[in-house]
Amino acid sequence: MWSEPPLSWEPCEPEAGELERAEKEALGSPEFDRLGLKAGIWNGYKAGQVKLVCRRLGGLARVIAFLPAGVKPAWEFWGRVFQWFGAAPNRRPWKVFWFGALTERNFPLVGQDLGPEHVNGGYTHVCSTDGICIYRAEEATRVLIHEMLHAACLDEPDWSIPMREAMIETWAELILVALVAKGRVPAAKRLWSKQSHWVVDTNAKAAEAHNTHDITDYAWRYLTGREQMYARLGVALPAPRHNPGQNSVRFTHPALEV
Ligand SMILES: [Zn+2]
Repeated sequence: MWSEPPLSWEPCEPEAGELERAEKEALGSPEFDRLGLKAGIWNGYKAGQVKLVCRRLGGLARVIAFLPAGVKPAWEFWGRVFQWFGAAPNRRPWKVFWFGALTERNFPLVGQDLGPEHVNGGYTHVCSTDGICIYRAEEATRVLIHEMLHAACLDEPDWSIPMREAMIETWAELILVALVAKGRVPAAKRLWSKQSHWVVDTNAKAAEAHNTHDITDYAWRYLTGREQMYARLGVALPAPRHNPGQNSVRFTHPALEV
């Protein structure tokens, strides 16, 4: 795919109903977005402090982004993500609403459980291109891939939600490594080494300091649950290095931020 010419983004205007939809998503249920990050960005947009950027990638994708100062979208890389996935199962354009909140994922105080406010950054409906919502700037590309896997109907149908999430997240991270490496094996090996250590180190802290041990603990689905999925895929992980000073609970190594 990287040898093919990139598809080009064109500016667009939000279509009828898209801004209403964005507002509904931004101000809607804070079930996962407990910090109100979407609403904060929407209010910033209404106050003129956050800019609206609409871009379309031919008939393949439409992105309606609300971006505070300092957030630089990786448009070319996102183009490659859509190109790699190809057309959605229903042939309609992939649609993404992105509220680029600057709040990063950090571990809470020692002993506190991890909840959606510490880890989540997007959502979508399974088997639907109706609209993917992303509400952080950090790891937006990893979240895009994760949500596209759900939207493309690639969840394991008979599994529980935490099990599905753990497998979708595991694949999202493997795909991100492959795409950031541009398909080059030495680069993929270097990135996988960083990422595999990041996974086990982050999981160790989540388990030891934040009670994330098994499927009944909320963040298992994104963090410790990945170890079971890598085992199912036959991928070995290194031993954790126990770094209690690690503050970030992002799911992927910073080298994978594009
Ligand atoms: Zn998910």
